[in-house]
Amino acid sequence: MAYIQFLGAAGTVTGSKHLISTGDPRGRDGFKVLIDCGLFQGPKEWRDRNWRDTPVPAKEIHAVILTHAHLDHCGWIPRLVKEGFRGQIYATPPTIDLCGIILPDSGHLQEEDAHFYNKKKKSKHDPALPLYTFEEAQAALQYFKPAQVGETVALSSELSFRFVRAAHILGSCMAEITLNSEGQPRRLLFTGDIGRVQDHKSAPGKVVHSGPAEGEVADLVVMESTYGNRQHPKEDPLPELAKLITATAGRGGSVVVPAFAIERTQKFVFILKHLIESGEIPRLPVFCDSPMAIKAVEIFLKHDEEYSDETREMIRQYGSPLEWHGFTFASTPEESKKINDAKMPSVIISSSGMVTGGRILHHLAQRLPDPRNLVLFIGFQAPGTRGFTIKSQASEVKIFGDYVPIRAQVAALEQFSDHADPPELLQWLRTFHNQPTTTYLVHGEPEASSRLRELMREELGWNVQVAQYSEKVEIN
Ligand SMILES: [Zn+2]
Repeated sequence: MAYIQFLGAAGTVTGSKHLISTGDPRGRDGFKVLIDCGLFQGPKEWRDRNWRDTPVPAKEIHAVILTHAHLDHCGWIPRLVKEGFRGQIYATPPTIDLCGIILPDSGHLQEEDAHFYNKKKKSKHDPALPLYTFEEAQAALQYFKPAQVGETVALSSELSFRFVRAAHILGSCMAEITLNSEGQPRRLLFTGDIGRVQDHKSAPGKVVHSGPAEGEVADLVVMESTYGNRQHPKEDPLPELAKLITATAGRGGSVVVPAFAIERTQKFVFILKHLIESGEIPRLPVFCDSPMAIKAVEIFLKHDEEYSDETREMIRQYGSPLEWHGFTFASTPEESKKINDAKMPSVIISSSGMVTGGRILHHLAQRLPDPRNLVLFIGFQAPGTRGFTIKSQASEVKIFGDYVPIRAQVAALEQFSDHADPPELLQWLRTFHNQPTTTYLVHGEPEASSRLRELMREELGWNVQVAQYSEKVEIN
């Protein structure tokens, strides 16, 4: 009997890794494909799992299907290759382009962390090693193979798949898998992360067009549940955003925005441009401190087939964000350090989005102690991350091994999420043409997954299970 084994994003929101094997769990060797291959982030208990081998040796996995280019879905790929994987990694062309910048950057950060701990002798491991290096991440890119949205790709005599739109970030897709073993075709749907519905007010500033593919047919669904127990505020966040920025500038402070370099940063930059041009906020200098954000803007411009109409219109009117007056995209470390010297009010957008690493650490170490500043969160903060600590109004946070007092104002706007919330998920699920035999919820904290499970049972009458870490379930 074919089976699925949940190797990550089960009981947590990171480390997405789901193994499909057409073989028998009791022995017979089958075709093995991994859906997503993400990095565990957040609490140490989960991050430690980045160092464990997969239960099936990496060299015995035949292929990877990658839903999108977020690190918690793709960030373990270089490690998988390092462990001996030599198959193909299927992804859409924008996802491949984005991985081309994200994975080497991740390798670079891993090396920097190891170097830092060795210098400070703060690691129990002597010497501390990177999970993978910049070079190893670059070497992993050779295994990527493009698959277009809607194209059917045969992986083996028993397995084929096609990508359908997930509308989560640029290039993001769900994977529809067809399994033809034991003479009985079955359709499996792996949602990856699911984007917002098409509603300007509830999903503002969308860079890519929104709305996941409707009318799915599936026997078994593996579905995300990040926002299973929370609803996004429905009011337009722009007036509140304008108020926060204007007040901070008025007291001589700066706004520091931790944001993923990809998608969220572009989205926020477009919103700032709109607020500046409409006179709703002062004409402050805007710094995008992320070499990745620059490359990501270039990738966005290349894949304009995914733009929303609003974004298309803004680019027609103002050109590429890289050329906008008053917007600085810092590439080199020197340019980044110069932002520290800026004493005038400004807006600084930097990554990582959950403050787990990257240049945002320098900006926060410098600006958190000053009550004139504002730290503004526009994205999900996983428990255990520094972003979660700061957002929870803690009095201090550990950065570079030292405790930094949090005296700056801290605010969060939840409307910018790229994940559908429960009413939107139900709206999407109601478009299915059949009722799947079983739906497994992944990619959620335990409370979020169990709340969504209850909702789906009550509202749709579906059979829903919450996937457990390392659990094997038969596909029947
Ligand atoms: Zn994602």
